[in-house]
Amino acid sequence: MSIAVLPARLANQIAAGEVVERPASVVKELVENSIDAGATKISIEIEKGGSKRIKITDDGKGIVKDELTLALSRHATSKIKSLDDLESIHSLGFRGEALASISSVSRLTLTSKPVEQDSAWQAIAVGRDMQVDIKPAAHPDGTSIDVEDLFFNTPARRKFLRTEKTEFTHIDEVVRRIALSKLAITIILSHNGKVIRQYRSAKTEKQIEKRIASVCGQGFIDNAITLDFKHDNLHLWGWIAKPEFYQRQNDLSYSYVNDRMMRDKLINHAIRQAYADRLTHDGYPAFVLFFNLDFADVDVNVHPAKHEVRFHQARFVHDFICSAVEQTLNAEQSPLSETLLC
Ligand code: ADP
Ligand code: MG
Repeated sequence: MSIAVLPARLANQIAAGEVVERPASVVKELVENSIDAGATKISIEIEKGGSKRIKITDDGKGIVKDELTLALSRHATSKIKSLDDLESIHSLGFRGEALASISSVSRLTLTSKPVEQDSAWQAIAVGRDMQVDIKPAAHPDGTSIDVEDLFFNTPARRKFLRTEKTEFTHIDEVVRRIALSKLAITIILSHNGKVIRQYRSAKTEKQIEKRIASVCGQGFIDNAITLDFKHDNLHLWGWIAKPEFYQRQNDLSYSYVNDRMMRDKLINHAIRQAYADRLTHDGYPAFVLFFNLDFADVDVNVHPAKHEVRFHQARFVHDFICSAVEQTLNAEQSPLSETLLC
C-alpha cells in the first residue's frame, strides 16, 4: 500500500478512540469546556443513556462566528499557545481534540452566541473531510453542543455500549465529580426528559455542606472532619470521614489536583496509609479532598483523558498528604495521640 494522509474524519475517529470511550467521556469533555468558558450554569440533557443524545448548554463566553470552524478542528485550542503554557496549565482542556473527536463519531451540532455578537450561529462538520457548514441560529448568550447518535458510524465502539442504565450511571458519576469540585456552578442533569440531579450554586459554608451532602449523602457530611493543611506551596483541604464511616466499596473517594478530577494512585495510597489499621481490612475511607500545588510542579499531560498526573516530587507529595490526613484523624481521636505512620 502506498503512503497517504488520512481523511480528516478518519484521523479524528482514530484519535477519538483515546478520548471518547463512552457517553460519560463525552459529558466530561463538554462540561469541562463549559467550565473553561466561565459558565455559571450548565444543563446536561441525556437521552437513552447518552447513546441517542447528549446535549450540554452553558451560559459561558461563547465562540464567535469566525472561530466556529476552528473549534471543530483538531489541534485547535484557545487555551495554550506554547509548550511553556503547558507547564502551567490552568484550564481543564488544552489538547484541542475533544470537539473534533466527538464530532467524528456522532452527529454534533455546535450553536453559540457570545455576548458581544448580535445573533447566534450554528456549525456542523460534514463529510469525510469534516468541512464545517455554518448557518444562523437562535440561542441565548452561551453555547450548546448537541451530540446525537454517538458511535453511529463506528459500529465496533457502539457494540461496547452497555445498557442505558449502566451508561447513565457512569454519566451521573462524572457529573457528581464535577459538582463537587465546581461548587459555585449550578449543574442540572436530566435523563429522558426528567430532571435527575439539581446541584445549586453553593457559596456559603452552609450551602457548600448541603451540596456535598447532596452528592455524597447526609451520612458523609455528618461523619466528616474538615481538613486544611498548608506547607510551602502545597495545600490540602476538604472533608475526610471518620474511620467508623468506612465504605464497603471504594466509591466515596473524591480527589482533585488543582481542581482537576483524578483517580490518582499516589493520592489514594497516601490516604489509605493514613487510615491504616483504623479501617477493617475490607473497608475504604470516604473523602473529598482538594490538593493544590504550583502548576509547574505537576504534569497533567500524561493521560489522554487526563485522569492521572505526575508529580515532580512524588515522595514528598505522598508524605505530605499522608501526614495531613493522619494528623487530622489523630486530633479527632485524641488530641494527645502522636503516632505517625507516614
Ligand atoms: P480544548 O478544550 O482542549 O481547547 P476542545 O476541542 O474541547 O479543545 O475545544 C476547542 C475549543 O473550542 C476550545 O479551546 C474553546 O476555545 C472552544 N470551546 C469549546 N467548547 C466551548 C464552550 N462550551 N464555550 C466556549 N468555547 C468553547
Ligand atoms: Mg476541551
